[in-house]
Amino acid sequence: MEQTYIMIKPDAVQRGLMGEIISRVEKRGLKIAAMRLGVMSEESAKEHYKEHAERPFFASLIEYVTSGPSVSMVVEGKNSIAIMRAVNGATNPVDALPGTIRGDLAIETGRNVVHASDSTESAQREIAIHFKDSDIVNYSKIDEVCLY
Ligand code: ADP
Ligand code: MG
Repeated sequence: MEQTYIMIKPDAVQRGLMGEIISRVEKRGLKIAAMRLGVMSEESAKEHYKEHAERPFFASLIEYVTSGPSVSMVVEGKNSIAIMRAVNGATNPVDALPGTIRGDLAIETGRNVVHASDSTESAQREIAIHFKDSDIVNYSKIDEVCLY
């Protein structure tokens, strides 16, 4: 089953939006297979965002995502990578449609409340940075018979 890595970024935790965001993932019908609240280490943040290492915003991005507790999740389900990108909305909240997490809850690219992996390769790489295999829980949901 396809898995993606989701982060509820520190600004969302500070603003009390964890439940709102987790609820949208659950209501969409995806399964949370791992979840942890904690402050991301600088090392993990730099590895996670290494594709942006040369960008002018890299230092402020690392400072942002390590500034306080965030929630890391492995979210599982058919097409979960593409679905969670769509659920999150455009990177710049100005372009994010109403109904998306960023379109409803954010106004700035530098405080855009959520992360979702953008491809199968990114998802596998990011899950491996933030979770051990044994952190990922295999369980069935009651509605799975009709969903999958
Ligand atoms: P996404 O999170 O939608 O995959 P990117 O991979 O392009 O977006 O960027 C990663 C993160 O870096 C963004 O979510 C945002 O927090 C931050 N970021 C991207 N572009 C900028 C920018 N121009 N200024 C400040 N922060 C940025
Ligand atoms: Mg990205």
